[in-house]
Amino acid sequence: MSRVHIIGAGLSGLAAAVRLVENDVPVTVYEGAGQAGGRCRTFYDKHLERDIDNGNHLIMSGNKSALSYLKRIGAPDPVKDPLTGPPFAIYPFVDVRSGRRWTVRINEGPIPFWVFDKHWRVPDTGVMDYVKAAGIAFAGADKTVADVVDQQSPLYERFWEPLTLAVLNTTPEKGQAKLLWRVIRETFLLGGQAAIPLTARTGLGHAFVDPAGKFIEQHGGVVRLGARVRSIWMEGGEATSLNFADETVTLDEGDRVIFAIPPTRLKDLLPDIDPPDDDASILNIHFRMSKPVPTKALGEGPFIGMIGSDGQWAFVRDDVISLTTSASNAIGTDDRPNDDVVAKIWRETQIALDLGDEEYERVRVIREKRATPDQSPEGVRKRLKPETRWRNVFLAGDHIDTGVPATIEGSIRSGDKAAESVLALKA
Ligand SMILES: Cc1cc2nc3c(=O)[nH]c(=O)nc-3n(C[C@H](O)[C@H](O)[C@H](O)COP(=O)(O)OP(=O)(O)OC[C@H]3O[C@@H](n4cnc5c(N)ncnc54)[C@H](O)[C@@H]3O)c2cc1C
Repeated sequence: MSRVHIIGAGLSGLAAAVRLVENDVPVTVYEGAGQAGGRCRTFYDKHLERDIDNGNHLIMSGNKSALSYLKRIGAPDPVKDPLTGPPFAIYPFVDVRSGRRWTVRINEGPIPFWVFDKHWRVPDTGVMDYVKAAGIAFAGADKTVADVVDQQSPLYERFWEPLTLAVLNTTPEKGQAKLLWRVIRETFLLGGQAAIPLTARTGLGHAFVDPAGKFIEQHGGVVRLGARVRSIWMEGGEATSLNFADETVTLDEGDRVIFAIPPTRLKDLLPDIDPPDDDASILNIHFRMSKPVPTKALGEGPFIGMIGSDGQWAFVRDDVISLTTSASNAIGTDDRPNDDVVAKIWRETQIALDLGDEEYERVRVIREKRATPDQSPEGVRKRLKPETRWRNVFLAGDHIDTGVPATIEGSIRSGDKAAESVLALKA
């Protein structure tokens, strides 16, 4: 049977491979790096002497494709393990400037009773703020979040801004409203059961990557690490070979190729393709403490949202506190030296987690320069379809037009879509 060659072992490539081996299609996955996972990976950090993720990743219980993927690669109840989260949809926040704390709680079921309860909704907001917010449901493709929501409402700083930064990795002034709405529709709008925030219990790699690699190999697939595709040859409207530094893989009749690599890399290999640009960066700071961190400030979950600060989300895993600043290119932290950024964000963290003057022992800064593709209205317009003009070449990745943002959910959907396109051709 013909083989599918998948370039890139990030989540999109792994999801495509999983879907294909489930359908008895032979696959080989080629990953340029020494480990799989791409932008969603765990590694042992020698300085911290801990396993850390490249950056905190939040997913939601309404992310159907991600949860289905986890189940299929071996986790019967992924919400409990390998993921973790609070038992209900609760989001603790602290305004770092004033020290004020609150928790947003989303009730179960589709009727949003939480909006009518001032202890559950965002503080200082009224029901009308939420009624007006519903306008985002009708936003056209050319509108940004800031175009369609009320920027004077307290909901802006305490809901729209953190949500847009977290989900679209861009500011409300730039991010496409329609893309954000799609996430709201698939999570908050369905009620608490679809809006529980989840993270990887012991690491992204242990949850999303390692079991997928095992699954693929157990089903006869091959995952080759350190195998970077340098070029691809095309002839007669289709790909004929993949070229690596020290070998050429000639494609057999009926073989297919899926490129599951980010836009910049894709353009290197297929210059006449025009995806959205790799765009926004994310700053991640991991602080190792001398002992397990008290989690009272987090309530029942593993993280807290921060308002009025450079650090936006603080996650705790045992003795490691990990801080995220999304859209760090737009926030301005990309232009400042590590020492300066670390000092400010550490002061914010002390407030957020109620640590008093406790100090960290070691710190690791990871700046992910190309964290996500452009998710402005212009960027979204340039998202690609899985099919290409070459008969046997398909695309996956978080820049594919899945209707959802460049996230774990989006990447896995793109991998599923690419696999379905390949399977449709086979049939
Ligand atoms: C710091 C950070 C925080 C994030 N936070 C969240 C979050 O909270 N929630 C969420 O859902 N999403 C989050 N994301 C987004 C999410 O990680 C990405 O959308 C997703 O991982 C992208 O997967 P991918 O397969 O499309 O691409 P990638 O992960 O980039 O995978 C592509 C793979 O292809 C390989 N490759 C590239 N070129 C070649 C080549 N020529 N030959 C062979 N291999 C090649 C790369 O090495 C890489 O492994 C975050 C991203 C970052 C960076």
